[in-house]
Amino acid sequence: MLRRHPVLDPGAISQPLMTETQSTTEPPRIRILPPEVVAMIAAGEVIERPASVAKELIENSIDAGARKISVAVRGAPDRFLRVLDDGAGMTEEEAYLALRRHATSKLTTADDLERIRTLGFRGEALPTIAQVSRFTLSTRSPATLSGTQIEVAGGAILTAAPTGRAPGTTVTIADLFFNTPARRKFLRSDRGEMRAVTRVVQSYALVLPGIHFLLSFDDDEVLNLPPVEGLAARAAAIYGADLARALVPVSYANEMLEVNGLVGGPDLNRGNRDFQTFFVNGRWVQNPLLGSAVRTAYRNRMPAGRYPFAIIEIALDPRFVDVNVHPTKREIKFSREHEVYGALVRAVEAAIRELGVRLGPAAFVVPGGGRPPAGLLSGLQYSFTRDVAAPPGAGEPLAHGGLVRDAEIGTPVPPAGESGLPDAGPAARAAAAGAMIGAAWPSVPTVPGELVPLWQLHNTYILCPVKGGMLIVDQHVAHERVLYEQALAEMRANPMAGQALLFPEVLDLAPTDIDLLVEAEPCLERLGFDVRLVGPRSIAVHAVPPQVKRWERGRFLLDLVETLGRERRAGAGLEEAVAASYACHTAVRKGDPLGLAEMNQLVEDLFACEVPLACPHGRPIVVKLSLDDLDRRFGRT
Ligand code: ADP
Ligand code: MG
Repeated sequence: MLRRHPVLDPGAISQPLMTETQSTTEPPRIRILPPEVVAMIAAGEVIERPASVAKELIENSIDAGARKISVAVRGAPDRFLRVLDDGAGMTEEEAYLALRRHATSKLTTADDLERIRTLGFRGEALPTIAQVSRFTLSTRSPATLSGTQIEVAGGAILTAAPTGRAPGTTVTIADLFFNTPARRKFLRSDRGEMRAVTRVVQSYALVLPGIHFLLSFDDDEVLNLPPVEGLAARAAAIYGADLARALVPVSYANEMLEVNGLVGGPDLNRGNRDFQTFFVNGRWVQNPLLGSAVRTAYRNRMPAGRYPFAIIEIALDPRFVDVNVHPTKREIKFSREHEVYGALVRAVEAAIRELGVRLGPAAFVVPGGGRPPAGLLSGLQYSFTRDVAAPPGAGEPLAHGGLVRDAEIGTPVPPAGESGLPDAGPAARAAAAGAMIGAAWPSVPTVPGELVPLWQLHNTYILCPVKGGMLIVDQHVAHERVLYEQALAEMRANPMAGQALLFPEVLDLAPTDIDLLVEAEPCLERLGFDVRLVGPRSIAVHAVPPQVKRWERGRFLLDLVETLGRERRAGAGLEEAVAASYACHTAVRKGDPLGLAEMNQLVEDLFACEVPLACPHGRPIVVKLSLDDLDRRFGRT
């Protein structure tokens, strides 16, 4: 761990060379913080990797009022990284001060800590970076005629000289961690580090579209983002116009805070959080509360382990935010977490609803994509309800005509627990989902012996006539959803008995797969698998669930474990990952012919699901073709 470094050579720093650059009589803006303020700062390690250097330097440039910030990498981010800005620059005296620990122009008293508006405030970044690299600071304040260049290696000043340059600041870092080899071991691949640097530049470019950002690698342009008006234009420049078109603005304000941003529909998701960027008062932050609020807004429109696209900016009185809880300043704490959480859920929900409206009551149902077209199932021709007394359209569930009632969308699930984190675990989530969505769906039709006429198209889709048109069901993803929910239920409440194999199947697995299997075994057992370890790398399978039709001498289980590994690496919880991989490999496939009874069963099971419109991976399950739409296409209207 890199903690407290000895301060830079104090002799060299306290006696700046007197040159003609020292022409201003103004006192330096930078001051050493008094010890009582230093004591209140979460100090310590700031620099973990090249991207942290990029982040600190870019933040300094922003604080300095730069209009243009250029980041250049050569070879690899730890080998050479330079940040150049056209901001306020520093006088010679300030340049020396900037290299001293706890020297900052952004804070004077402890009270200032309560109303931090700048990104920096500790006066630690520059000295810390200079301590662990070969560091060159070149800077000029517009108030002086020439600039100052100071070279530092491992914390010791090597040279200092006046230099001619435009106003602004350039910081160049070479050979990061050259004197702390242990740190180097924690670096990722060059490409991974470059990705992280790119992400820093992109993130600040999103929140500050008025600043020109540039990023180059070995003199090739990676990003060139000239100033634009607003977040949407910046997002289009970064993510491409196609993706940007699929986003809706988030805009919300109450007496305490303001939320702005862009989000995508439930189909625009990823297995990691790279698609989510949060800013609080202009600072790029990481805060589990924010991610979880966004997640709640999508509720079960998206499977576990998937993360919706979201760029969220929150602005609130700095008194309510503590940015001083963590050395890298990326983690923050809200003093009124519940309000922030609730507001963010409402803000994102309103945006998702907007997305539903924008897509309109068109032919296609975007699964859970906000407001579903009115009356999606409200007109099921073959009443999917046992309650014959209630004609279609008149019953309670049918009145909602969709996934979730608007009133329900508008009511955030309140955060539970002391931590303020709302996630009360998968079971509670599932229960909440059941209460919320289950109610909005018609109950399951089962009139024994009575089959609804359904058609199978190309052994892939099930066509299901309803009053207002026709539903097209993707048989594979529909079955996947059904099995996924059944598997979760079996793991949590009703374990199933398996079907014994005539001869136990002995399989050899890679060591990592064995680990996965051992971890998942209790879940698999509840699904009906009987798997026993018979050697360091061998298992014997004695029984499998009756639903498994494609055992293929164990290939099934090997495929399942492979998918399981992927799901886990993508961040899915154990049960969800097991359920998803089991469902994925057990479900009927595209191309499997289905009989009428099987199709009836599937459609029936599907509509009994908690989330009948999106598969565990977020793909649509049902598409509706409305009569109105057909009429339009045939020119009847
Ligand atoms: P902090 O940002 O917390 O104040 P730093 O060590 O990052 O601490 O920087 C120390 C000081 O150096 C800043 O307060 C600022 O006055 C000055 N400084 C750093 N980078 C720049 C820059 N790019 N342009 C102008 N001044 C800068
Ligand atoms: Mg700083």
